[in-house]
Amino acid sequence: MTATFAAYPEGSADAGVPTDVAEQAVRTLEALRSAQPCLWIRPARHRGDPGSAQTGFRAAWVEQAQARFQRFAPLLAELAPETAASGGIIESPLLRAAQMQAALHLPTRMGTLYIKADHGLAVAGSIKARGGIHEVLEFAETLALREQRLRPGDDYRVLNTPAVRACSARHRVAVGSTGNLGMSIGIAAALLGFQAEVHMSADAKAWKKARLRAHGVKVIEHAGDYAQAVAAGRAAAQADPLTHFVDDERSASLFAGYAAAADPLCAQLRQAGVRVDAAHPLFVYLPCGVGGAPGGIAYGLKQRLGEHVHCFFAEPVQSPCFFVGMMAQDGLLPGLPALPSVYDIGLRNRTEADGLAVPSASELALAEMATRLAGVYTVTDERLFADLHRLYASEGLRIEPSAAAGFSGPQMLCGTPAGQAYLRERGLLAHMPQSTHLAWTTGGSLVPPDEFDAFLSRGKSSAAALRAP
Ligand SMILES: *Cc1c(COP(=O)(O)O)cnc(C)c1O
Repeated sequence: MTATFAAYPEGSADAGVPTDVAEQAVRTLEALRSAQPCLWIRPARHRGDPGSAQTGFRAAWVEQAQARFQRFAPLLAELAPETAASGGIIESPLLRAAQMQAALHLPTRMGTLYIKADHGLAVAGSIKARGGIHEVLEFAETLALREQRLRPGDDYRVLNTPAVRACSARHRVAVGSTGNLGMSIGIAAALLGFQAEVHMSADAKAWKKARLRAHGVKVIEHAGDYAQAVAAGRAAAQADPLTHFVDDERSASLFAGYAAAADPLCAQLRQAGVRVDAAHPLFVYLPCGVGGAPGGIAYGLKQRLGEHVHCFFAEPVQSPCFFVGMMAQDGLLPGLPALPSVYDIGLRNRTEADGLAVPSASELALAEMATRLAGVYTVTDERLFADLHRLYASEGLRIEPSAAAGFSGPQMLCGTPAGQAYLRERGLLAHMPQSTHLAWTTGGSLVPPDEFDAFLSRGKSSAAALRAP
């Protein structure tokens, strides 16, 4: 499962792009360049058909990831006491969010708002508990099987014996991160007895670095952006055969770990009495950085729910890397590189949403989303803070700015011409009262109280500013 991917199509003007799509693309690019929030609906698939992505990623890996989480559960319960109550399974609740729905002025005739509360995931405090921990577990398992310290069918708690931990301590896990992936990988690797090394970009928060160091993780700070931190980590790891590098821009193991979220969510939806079918559409709004986490989840959900689930990615107005990657993939950004960065369209990648401050998207995620993604939208930092404040005031939930990006989704879909056209063209308007809007809150429970208070007071003034005429 450690294959890398190079299936990205050539960037070029596409002779098959209809005029109205091309005109829409020009207007959208204008909005992107001027950092105005906007929604882009994937035009009718003029490129490829379902399943044509040539990434090498296999559907079976999603089930394997689920099974791996099960095998490791008894060990995790032992290593991370906060997971003991759930038997070592790291999951988040599905929450009905009636107060937040009211605060967002989303009328019930447009559907019902739910939250997938990954901001509270154990160990990592973010969605990275899914992909990041999965990759560390897969590395630990592969290594222990190869070195015959573990046999298939064993109780995985054997990995916590002093003899095995002494072997693990010779190995290192390294990663480049804006913060949360580093926290997830660093903490999980340290729990399992590996050395851990996290390459942090300039936008990573000081408290995240401090927390990692407190766990015995080696934090290496880089002056550059996320992509530079990843490149530095990759280079350092290549020089050392005992180092496993978690490659956020290419990793299939991360992707599979995220995709494994789909089954538990489907079970939670059933349990909550939420139907998903032709007359009950499900709209999912996923904050997007490099695209691995939202991509994996969208992949898993599409596997389970097919055309009845509609996935939208949300990015900061200064960091719409997946947005431009997708438009380029559709042949709508002639003159730009095949995998453009946000700098290529004059943006600066400066945002308080540190989890989403990424200049270019994952090629694996872009390729896998080619036929699975409904659309992408952007959101201002001001709106992120306003929604963070609204969520705390209405539901008492503590999230970080990145995790608020999903909450402008329903308005983007139901309240913009592009979103309304999407609903109309797919015959969804009649079903909106029975529809479900699911905002994925991707991080925040580990944010220190004083940091959170600063978020809140900024959110309060942002909310007031957005209300002002
Ligand atoms: C990492 C992260 C995301 C997005 O994940 P990607 O794989 O980078 O797209 C969203 N929200 C938070 C809080 C994150 O840390």
